[in-house]
Amino acid sequence: MALVVQKFGGSSLSDTERIRAVADHVARTRRQGHEVVVVVSAMGKTTDELIRLAGEVSKVVPGRELDMLLTTGERISMALLCMALAELGVPAASFTGSQAGIVTDAVHTKAKIVEVRGDRVRGALAEGKVPVVAGFQGVSLGREITTLGRGGSDTTAVAVAAALGAGVCEIYTDVSGVFSADPRLVPDARRLARISFEEMLEVAASGGRVLMHRSVEFGRRYHVPIHVRSSFTWEPGTWVVEEEEAMEEALVTAVTHDTSEVKLTVSGVPDRPGIAARLFRGLAERAVNVDMIVQNTSSHGLTDISFTVPADDLAVALGVSQAVAPGIGATGVTADAEVAKVSVIGAGMRSSPGVTATMFEALAAASINIEMISTSPIRISCVLRRADVERAVALLHDAFELGTDAPARRAGAS
Ligand code: ASP
Ligand code: MG
Repeated sequence: MALVVQKFGGSSLSDTERIRAVADHVARTRRQGHEVVVVVSAMGKTTDELIRLAGEVSKVVPGRELDMLLTTGERISMALLCMALAELGVPAASFTGSQAGIVTDAVHTKAKIVEVRGDRVRGALAEGKVPVVAGFQGVSLGREITTLGRGGSDTTAVAVAAALGAGVCEIYTDVSGVFSADPRLVPDARRLARISFEEMLEVAASGGRVLMHRSVEFGRRYHVPIHVRSSFTWEPGTWVVEEEEAMEEALVTAVTHDTSEVKLTVSGVPDRPGIAARLFRGLAERAVNVDMIVQNTSSHGLTDISFTVPADDLAVALGVSQAVAPGIGATGVTADAEVAKVSVIGAGMRSSPGVTATMFEALAAASINIEMISTSPIRISCVLRRADVERAVALLHDAFELGTDAPARRAGAS
C-alpha cells in the first residue's frame, strides 16, 4: 500500500461536477489500496477574480491582505471536495496551509516553503481519512498567512509528498502530460512517457507551462517522482524522474518557446571593466530577473549590451537602464517587445556536439534570423522575431525528428 499525493489544479475543479469527478477518482484510488493525500488549487479562475476585486478597491494592495484574500480560493475547493468525498462515504478532512504545517518565509505573495511539519496530515491518515490540503499557501514563523506565487499549488503538493515520503506526486491538469512541443503549434507533438528532472527544469524555465519551476526543484532535491496527467481522461501521462530512469537519452527531448520576454539594448557603452556590473546591479536592486545577455564585440572601444527581461518588468527595467545610461556613458536605450525565445532541450546533447549546428542550420534554411543565443549543458536557446516563433518551433521539432511520425527515439514513448 503506497502513499500517493494527488494535486488537482483549478481547471480540474472548475465547477461542482468536476469536484465530484475528482472525489470519484480519489475514492477509486483508495479502493485500489492506496493511501491518498490531496492538494487542491482554487476553483477555475477564482484567483484571477480575487486579484481583480483587490484592484477594484485599491491601487496599493498590501501583500499581507492580498494573501489573506487569495488563500480563501483554496479553502473553498478543499471544503467542497471533502463534502463530495463524504457523499461517497469516504472520510476526509480539510486543512489550510497553516493547519497542515506548511511553514514559509515572510515574503508575502511569493513566499518560499522552509519546512513542512504535516503532523495533522499524518494524524488524519492514521485515522483512515483522506487529508485535503489547501495548496499555494502557508504560514510564516511570525504566524502570518502567506502565498507561494502563482501556480504555487504544485510546489505545495511536491513538498507535502517529500515530507510524507510518498511514492509519487500526481499532478492532475487539463493537459495529458509534457509534450515534445506545444501541441497547439505542432500537431504531431508527442507526449513524453518520461523526462528527467534536469530536462523538466529547463522546460519550465524556457516557456513550458505545465509545472511550476520550484515544484520540479523540490522533486529533484527530495527524489519525489512527479506524474503529470489529465483529470479529464485520467490516462497515464508523463513521469518526471531521475536521469538514470529517464531511459534512453534522446539527443533532444523537447522544443519550447516563450513569448513572455522583451529585449532591451543599451548602446554605445565604453568597453571597459565595471560597466556591465553597474547596469546589472541596478536591475538586481529593483528585483528584475534578467534572462539572456549579449554583449557585442566592440568597435572603436564602444559596444552594445542587449538583455531580455519578463514583459511585466519592462517599465522598471527601462527606467533603471535609462537612469544608469548617462553615468556609464551609453548613448541610448531601446526596448523591443516583438521578440520570442525558442529552446531545444535534451540530456543527450551533453555528449553530442552537433545539436547547435543542426539548430542553427534549420533556422537558417527558413531564413529565420537569430538575435541572441544562450546555452546550458542540456539546452540551446535563441531569441528571434516573434513573428517567426511558430514556424521556428515546428521546423526544429521536425529537424530533431521529435514527432509521432518519426521513429520512436525513446522507449515507452506514447
Ligand atoms: N490558485 C493559485 C493560482 O491560480 C495557485 C495554483 O493554482 O497553483 O495561481
Ligand atoms: Mg491555477
